[in-house]
Amino acid sequence: MPFAYDDQNIFAKILRGEIPNDTVLETQHTLAFRDIHPQAPDHVLVIPKGPYATYDHFALAASDEEIVDFTRTLGEVARAVGAQPSEAGGGFRLISNAGEDAVQEVPHMHVHLVAGRPLGRILQ
Ligand code: IMP
Repeated sequence: MPFAYDDQNIFAKILRGEIPNDTVLETQHTLAFRDIHPQAPDHVLVIPKGPYATYDHFALAASDEEIVDFTRTLGEVARAVGAQPSEAGGGFRLISNAGEDAVQEVPHMHVHLVAGRPLGRILQ
């Protein structure tokens, strides 16, 4: 059974405007806003506006237009916070926790964009 979508989750409430958020970018299909408990100077959550619980659900059920919009917005957020990699340094990390093993807390698909400090290695 896929993760059921619960429209009472906190990101659904943010999308409906019931809870405030610190928006970085918004497009037709995607919202990017700052994480309330940042793990780095720049920690942005990028979410599709559609009701997708996990990454695989989004990747397989969303339209091509939504997926392209989402993917481009991730790149635009990296630029917007000044985290694009360059010869002088910089860079960012993308993380999407999906399901119990990954300790996904909010059951609305999201990608964390983390940047603004050296992030170290997480996979050996
Ligand atoms: P997950 O563990 O990948 O599901 O991460 C959920 C993230 O949502 C965590 O990093 C939380 O700090 C963040 N979060 C929870 N509630 C809010 C909110 O109201 N605004 C912004 N970020 C939130």
